[in-house]
Amino acid sequence: MIEDTQEIWMYCIYCERAFRSSSKNNCTYECCDGNLGDIWEWDVILKLNRNYPEIPVQGEEYPLFGDVGFTNLRRAGYDEETRRLPGNC
Ligand SMILES: [Zn+2]
Repeated sequence: MIEDTQEIWMYCIYCERAFRSSSKNNCTYECCDGNLGDIWEWDVILKLNRNYPEIPVQGEEYPLFGDVGFTNLRRAGYDEETRRLPGNC
């Protein structure tokens, strides 16, 4: 269980960049409208893209479907309408 005040690496599926935050409410990058539902934990991205670094580089773009494509996402239970993975809401 992650405490509310603890900052972890998050990922915005809108701008496909990572940032440290304790909240999934909005993207911290300027000019990005990513908000609740668009912000995933970096851990989830790591599971989908095993070649990505455990600690992402701030400001660097990491394509969500880097080396997996939609097939693996669907296999993981990704819902295209709600853009959510099970357990990631
Ligand atoms: Zn963003």
